[in-house]
Amino acid sequence: MNRTLRVRQSQTVLPFGVGAVFDIQGESFVATGIGDWPQKGRQRVESPRLAGRLGVTGFYAAPPTANDRFDTPDAPGAPYIRFPSWLFCGSCRRMKRWRIADEKPGQPPRCPSCSPGRTLAPMRFVQICAAGHLGDVDWWFWAHSRQEAGERRQCGEREKLCFLVSERASGLEALCVSCTAKGCGASRDLLDILGTHGMRCSGRNPWQRAKEAVECAMPVQIVQRTAGNLYYPVVHSALDIPESDTPASHGDEELAARVREHDLWVSLCRIAGTARADVFRTMIQEDTGADDRLLDAMLAEETGQPLPVVSSDPAATPVRPDLSREEWTAFTAPAMPATRDFALRETTLGLGQETAEPWAGLHRRIGRVVLVDRLREVRALSGFSRVSPDATLVPADTSRRLKWLPAVEVFGEGILLTLDKNELTAWEGDTDVRRRVAGMRADFDRSFQKDRLQALTGEELSARFVLLHTLAHLLIRQLSFESGYTTASLRERVYARPEQDQYGVLVYTAAGDAEGTLGGLVQQGEPPRLAETLLRMTEAAAWCSADPLCAEHTGQGFGNLNRAACHACALLPETSCETGNTLLDRALVIGGEHVPGYLESIVTAARSAVAHALEEM
Ligand SMILES: [Zn+2]
Ligand SMILES: [Zn+2]
Ligand SMILES: [Zn+2]
Ligand SMILES: [Zn+2]
Ligand SMILES: [Zn+2]
Repeated sequence: MNRTLRVRQSQTVLPFGVGAVFDIQGESFVATGIGDWPQKGRQRVESPRLAGRLGVTGFYAAPPTANDRFDTPDAPGAPYIRFPSWLFCGSCRRMKRWRIADEKPGQPPRCPSCSPGRTLAPMRFVQICAAGHLGDVDWWFWAHSRQEAGERRQCGEREKLCFLVSERASGLEALCVSCTAKGCGASRDLLDILGTHGMRCSGRNPWQRAKEAVECAMPVQIVQRTAGNLYYPVVHSALDIPESDTPASHGDEELAARVREHDLWVSLCRIAGTARADVFRTMIQEDTGADDRLLDAMLAEETGQPLPVVSSDPAATPVRPDLSREEWTAFTAPAMPATRDFALRETTLGLGQETAEPWAGLHRRIGRVVLVDRLREVRALSGFSRVSPDATLVPADTSRRLKWLPAVEVFGEGILLTLDKNELTAWEGDTDVRRRVAGMRADFDRSFQKDRLQALTGEELSARFVLLHTLAHLLIRQLSFESGYTTASLRERVYARPEQDQYGVLVYTAAGDAEGTLGGLVQQGEPPRLAETLLRMTEAAAWCSADPLCAEHTGQGFGNLNRAACHACALLPETSCETGNTLLDRALVIGGEHVPGYLESIVTAARSAVAHALEEM
C-alpha cells in the first residue's frame, strides 16, 4: 500500500492545528508549533482587520502540499511529529520508545524484534495537564507503580516493557504493561489508568525541546489520545468586509465627535507615539468611552501615521475579540459595499402582497434578506488549551517569538436574514420571554464557558441571541434537508448583541478553494423559495421525536445551557455551530407552554389553514 501522510492545507487550522493529535493510517501524530514551520512556501493570508484585533502582524497558511511528510527532511507543509512516542508490536507485544533518529523516510515504524518487521501501533493513552502540556505516559512508572520504592530501585532497565492482553478479562482490565527486565516482573493492568496518578508533568509539548520545558506543578491526567478534552483550539474567524475609508464605522460617529471635542484631543494628536500620550489617551477614553480601535483609527487619520503596529503585549489584546460589529454594519449598510470577495444583493421573501396567514405573519416578522454571492473568510488559530476550554492558553508559537498566526482562507456564499426590529422588541418585552431567558442566564452565568461564550453573545445573554441562534440551527437543518447540502457544510454566524443593535443571522458555506461554491445556497434564498423553507422549518420545529421530554426540558445539553433543543430537533455538527451547541431553545421560536414564540402565530396559522382545508374537503 502506498503510504501517504496527507494533511490538506485547509486542515492546518482545524481540525489538525498546532497541538492537535490525530491518526493517519494507523499512525498517530501531533502538529508542532509554528516555530517549526518551513519559511519557504508558506503563503501570506491577508486580513488586516483580524490582525489588528488579535494584536499580530499578520497570518500565514502552511505551504500547500499534496504530501505533507513529517518524516522527510525539508519536506514542505505544516510539520507533524510522531506522538505518542511509545509504540507497541501487535505480534510480539514488545513496547518500543520511538525516537526521531529511528524514523525511516517513507516507512512506518517497524518492530525491531519481530521479523519480517511488523508495523508498530501507538499506545492509546497519553498525559495532559491544565497548563496545556502533553506527554507520553511514563509506562515504566506505571508498570512499577504497585511496587515499593525500594523494589522499584532494583529494576535497572527503563525501556524493557511489554503491552500484554489477557483473554481472561475484558476492557481495560485485560490490558497490562509489564517489565521484562531480568528479575523484575513488575506489572500493572490498565483498569484504573484514566485520571490522575501523581505522575509528574513534563512541562512541555512533544515538539518542544527539553530546555523549553517549564517547571509544572499541575496534576497530570491520563486520557485516551482521542479524548475530547485533549485539545481545545482557539480559532478566530473574520469575514473579508470592505475596509472603510472613514476612521470609524457608522455607530461610532457620535463617539468620534465627542473625542474630537475633548480638551485633550488636539494635545494627544500632537504628542501621539510618545510615552506621555498614554496619559492623555486614558483620560480621553475615560471621559468619552471610546475604545482603542476607534482612537487608533482617528489618530491614524489625524496624524497621517499608519495604524500603530499592534502591541506585542499579549495581555493587552483580548483573547477573543468581538469581530461582529463591522460585519453587521457591512451587511446592513443602506448602500451595500462590494469588493471582489464580498458581494451582496438584497432580495425579499416575495410576500409583500400577501394578506393571508401564515404568509402575512412571516412577512411582518422577517426584516431583510440579503444574498451573499461571494464571501471570503479567514480562520486563524491563536492557540489551544487542554483539559478544559478555559484552561491556560498555549500560543500557536510555543517559543513566543513569532508575531504572526497560522490561518487559512476559504471562499463561499451565504444568506443573511434579519428580524423585524419592532416585532422583535415587542416580543422581547414579554414577561414570559424575559422570565424564560432569565433562567437560561442564571445557568449561563454559572457556566465555566461564560467568558468564551460572551465573545459571541455580548455582555449579557439576551432573548434575541437564543432566538436567532436557534433560528440559525433550524434553518441550517431545513436548508440541508431541502437543498442537499450537508449540515456540516453549512455554518452559522449569529449577530445578536442588543448593545450593538444587531438582530440577524448569516447562514453560509465556505469551502477551501478560491473558486468558492456554485451558487446553490444563494439560490435557496431567492423568492419564493426562502419563505417556503421558513414555513416548513417552523412547522418542523414544532415537533421533536423526543417530545414531550425535549419540549419541557428545563436544562439539557452541555452545562444545562439548552432548553427545548436536542439532537433530534436542533443540534448541529460541531463545525457548523459557534457556541458548541449551547444556548438553544425551540420554544422561543415556535412557542411553548409557558412562553410565546417569535414565530408562534405562523405555526398556529399554518395548522389552522391545514384544518380548514381538511374541513372543506
Ligand atoms: Zn514485534
Ligand atoms: Zn522493572
Ligand atoms: Zn504541565
Ligand atoms: Zn428535541
Ligand atoms: Zn450554533
